[in-house]
Amino acid sequence: MGACVEILDAGKTYRSARGPVTALTGVALAVQEGEFLSLLGPSGCGKSTLLRCIAGLNQVSEGSIRIRDMEVRRPAEGLGMVFQRDVLLDWRSIRDNVLLAAEFQGLRRRDFVERAQALLARFGLGEFADRNPWELSGGMRQRAAICRALLCEPQILLMDEPFGALDAMTRDDLNVELARIQQDGGRTVVFVTHSIAEAVYLSDRVAVMSPGPGRVVEVFDIDLPRPRPLSIRETPEFARHVGAIRGLFSRLGIVKE
Ligand code: ADP
Ligand code: MG
Repeated sequence: MGACVEILDAGKTYRSARGPVTALTGVALAVQEGEFLSLLGPSGCGKSTLLRCIAGLNQVSEGSIRIRDMEVRRPAEGLGMVFQRDVLLDWRSIRDNVLLAAEFQGLRRRDFVERAQALLARFGLGEFADRNPWELSGGMRQRAAICRALLCEPQILLMDEPFGALDAMTRDDLNVELARIQQDGGRTVVFVTHSIAEAVYLSDRVAVMSPGPGRVVEVFDIDLPRPRPLSIRETPEFARHVGAIRGLFSRLGIVKE
């Protein structure tokens, strides 16, 4: 299969009151159709910037980004996005927050009500559809945000540290569910994280970014078999992948040995 997302020598410089800030420089990367790729790097290396540029919410200042051979100038169709904070509207019920995805795309809400309910049920929120976001825990809110991103069956899912604010057990649950969803739907996922273990568990490939201004330093193939039970994290193969990436982090001065 061919490339789904192509990043060609992309750079991004923000203009700010304190002068220009170069967030990305010379980023080159291709994400294949149906692939789960993680962008892994330290805080401030430009991960969110790169994801927003792929999403068409931000423009690169050098080079280009293409989705299925079309240059990205605005959000592409068939794209779902999950942000680090769940960004739910407090005055809408959980169901109505999920249905927002259809409304934004100008689609008929009633065509999606059933699917919204099915998604909420799948994520253990079936009984909470009529509640408001503030009645739910952080993990439940983030599940609702994922349901919203999946509502219109996006072929490409962009996720910016979606589990960063969750406790370890909730994070494990959602990692398993996300792996399942990606496999079932044959979706392409670009996933941002700064957790090496999370990236290894979820990904087909892990692109490691250097400290800012960010660029992709090395891409690691994670050839662990799927489906992956959580216990795979205790195997020597898993530890070998984590070790290889940590070694690079150490050479980049991101972590100390
Ligand atoms: P990450 O997601 O890896 O933590 P970001 O993409 O958020 O990194 O930020 C990369 C760099 O760009 C940082 O130095 C940050 O301060 C800067 N930056 C991000 N957004 C803006 C903005 N809107 N204006 C100015 N600088 C920004
Ligand atoms: Mg970020």
